[in-house]
Amino acid sequence: MKKVLLLGAGHAQVSVLAALAQQRMAGGDILLVTPHTRQFYSGMVPGLIAGRYAEDDCAIDIVPLARNAGVHLRIGQAASLDAAARKVTLADSEEIGYDVLSINTGPVQDRERIPGAREFALFVRPIEGFIALWKQTRALAEARPLSVVLVGSGAAGVELVLAVRAALGARAELTIVADGPLLENYTEAVRRKATAALKRAKVQVLQGRCTAVERKHVVVGGSMRVVCDVPIIATGSDAPAWLATSGLATDAQGFVRVGATLQSASHPNVFASGDVVVRDDMPHPRSGVYAVRAGPVLAENLRAFVAGGALTPYIPQPRSLNLLATGDGRAIASWGTWSAQGWLMGWWKDHIDRAFVARYAQG
Ligand SMILES: Cc1cc2nc3c(=O)[nH]c(=O)nc-3n(C[C@H](O)[C@H](O)[C@H](O)COP(=O)(O)OP(=O)(O)OC[C@H]3O[C@@H](n4cnc5c(N)ncnc54)[C@H](O)[C@@H]3O)c2cc1C
Repeated sequence: MKKVLLLGAGHAQVSVLAALAQQRMAGGDILLVTPHTRQFYSGMVPGLIAGRYAEDDCAIDIVPLARNAGVHLRIGQAASLDAAARKVTLADSEEIGYDVLSINTGPVQDRERIPGAREFALFVRPIEGFIALWKQTRALAEARPLSVVLVGSGAAGVELVLAVRAALGARAELTIVADGPLLENYTEAVRRKATAALKRAKVQVLQGRCTAVERKHVVVGGSMRVVCDVPIIATGSDAPAWLATSGLATDAQGFVRVGATLQSASHPNVFASGDVVVRDDMPHPRSGVYAVRAGPVLAENLRAFVAGGALTPYIPQPRSLNLLATGDGRAIASWGTWSAQGWLMGWWKDHIDRAFVARYAQG
């Protein structure tokens, strides 16, 4: 029996669990290590913040999924990896050996990058922590008006600030700090639609880099101090620090280098998928869509690797459908240069997102 260790119940590995529930892996004794018994679907988190969803609507229950897949479950998280010794050490010091490892632990946010942020700000990742702190923010908003500053002008930042407006209504002053163009990776047409949505929602857009967070202020551009009760950091994704000493080949930012079969560029018995990787041959954006699409190929390749068979390449799609929720039930859809906005797009997003979570609901 080969010991297969799945790290993280990310978008790709929930799909592996579902595939294993359909057909068990011959010759594999599989253990999943993940910090939580449920996995929030990030695409629905802005809707959860906006008050459009309950937590159960957006969470995949990992316990029955693992059970039906015949996979052992250990609640915990990797603190270090020694790829040469084929060993993972968990945060509680337990050491777990493996023959085959599959990493789908997602990205992290560097809490030290903005001075003061660790102390005073809410970070959107890990999502479980963000949701818990958001509940406290909501309770606070019942008592008095709040000024909330979203740092980060990518899709998550824009969706979240609009969601906060939906949740807190006129009881909040809202600002988004944009270090560069709003929605940098989107077309001009999408940016215009998003800018109009922010204007309708009375969100102030502040151009500049957030250089520090203080107890009652967010500092922009080194000198402008914006009054803030609740700073939320939604800036990009960083690689987990524990990968740096793993011995796995990584890029300069610390993301795991993988090839077409999702195997590590340095250690063929290590697979990795989702936001924690960088593809050597076909780089693609870090987004849930690509992590989801990698899932079925990952499931097939883990099975084939254990059986000694041929592996299949994962060909990322050249572009993806993006649906940005605007907090009011509407959404902005885009595909390449096409874009559209409105209630129908909101209904479409809701339908896709609910279907994703429902796919993993176990009876
Ligand atoms: C607010 C928000 C909204 C978003 N909306 C969208 C969207 O609509 N569409 C889209 O495509 N993308 C969206 N994204 C981006 C998307 O969340 C990521 O691209 C996606 O989550 C990456 O998936 P993943 O499977 O790599 O990791 P994740 O989904 O982050 O899953 C990682 C898993 O690993 C676990 N884990 C973490 N650390 C460890 C460890 N050390 N050991 C073991 N397990 C660990 C985590 O608990 C989790 O279960 C959004 C992001 C945010 C923050």
